[in-house]
Amino acid sequence: MIKSSSSSRARRPDLKSAIASLLLVAAIQAGCATATGPGRAAQKAAPVDTLEARRAQARDYLGLGRAAIGQGDMAAATMQLREALRLQPELVEARESLGLALYNMGDLDGAIEELRALLHQKRDAALARLTLAAALIARQDWSSARAELEEILRQQPELAQAYYSLGLARYALGDLNGAIEAYRQLSDAVDHPLHLGVTEAGPLPGGVIKATAGIATLLAEGIGDTIRYSLTADPVEEARAGRALLEAMGLRERKNIDLIACPSCGRAEIDVIEVARQAQEAFGEREIPLQVAVMGCVVNGPGEARDADLGIAAGNKKGHLFVRGQNVAVVPEDKMVDALVEWATFIGEHGVDAAFERARSTREQARREAERDRAALTGAHGDDVNRSEQRVKLIRKLGRGE
Ligand code: SF4
Repeated sequence: MIKSSSSSRARRPDLKSAIASLLLVAAIQAGCATATGPGRAAQKAAPVDTLEARRAQARDYLGLGRAAIGQGDMAAATMQLREALRLQPELVEARESLGLALYNMGDLDGAIEELRALLHQKRDAALARLTLAAALIARQDWSSARAELEEILRQQPELAQAYYSLGLARYALGDLNGAIEAYRQLSDAVDHPLHLGVTEAGPLPGGVIKATAGIATLLAEGIGDTIRYSLTADPVEEARAGRALLEAMGLRERKNIDLIACPSCGRAEIDVIEVARQAQEAFGEREIPLQVAVMGCVVNGPGEARDADLGIAAGNKKGHLFVRGQNVAVVPEDKMVDALVEWATFIGEHGVDAAFERARSTREQARREAERDRAALTGAHGDDVNRSEQRVKLIRKLGRGE
């Protein structure tokens, strides 16, 4: 589930690069990463006719194979390592390196076969098991990958990369909570920045919900340094979702409009969904760091959205504009969105106090009109337009099983 940094749309590039780094480390540890010479194995060697000579030559091929891995030449590496294994089939280091090289060149089936054979001989080869898990993940054989990763953690609980991979495997098995837990453990185990994202979360809106459930849970616990949404949607939506989440959690300074709107109900005087959509479109990516509300009725709208910087509530074919809960102007209903954009732009440039100053001559009149329309609407539709009492009675009845 949770991805490490430098993710892109390619399949598991982060995991692949982690494995590549581990390969390089393995090659360097073997003292071979910079070897460029032909070595004994590549020289015209004397005929091999003793066990010792075969073993020595096998080790030479192993060194050359590891050097080729260090230089990123996986094809050459696999040739050298297969030669090493031909000479000495039980040379576990050669099989381990061969598995790593095959994985890195994308031969997943070959890598899985070699690594499984190696782990038969050497159960505690954690790097090999990690690579096997990565290959199984790439094959989307999640349950086998999970079993391998859990085995690594049993053997080497400090292996942070396994926690990350386990998170990935658990998430793919539909176990979001397990993935979150794996990332908590990763955060405890390592002291470097962590990147959060839910791999292949899917299309909107479900993808955003799944990704947010994972990312927000961890961010709220102080885990995670960068995030990424991976949605089956326009990449702009991914950026929007990430920005919205960070702004909602107060982890990023607001740069754009935060448009809120009421859910609409029996009191709504307009099509709230449509007007909110129009407002969203009109504001687009404008950099105005305000919270703006679209409310369906003047009866409750200004009160419900009193904390918004700016809002508009419909009533009697009019739009009642309010700033921080105080009426400032009245516009025709079909000008509601234009008025919102115009006042938001003004407040963005000049501030809230300037908006009150601007409304000095219209405020009182706006307040009276809102009150009149509120009274008219309540009179016309009554206090219980949503038939709340009737619904409460019905719920109680259902609760009693009647
Ligand atoms: S009472 Fe008015 S503001 Fe509240 S949800 Fe209904 S229409 Fe919207």
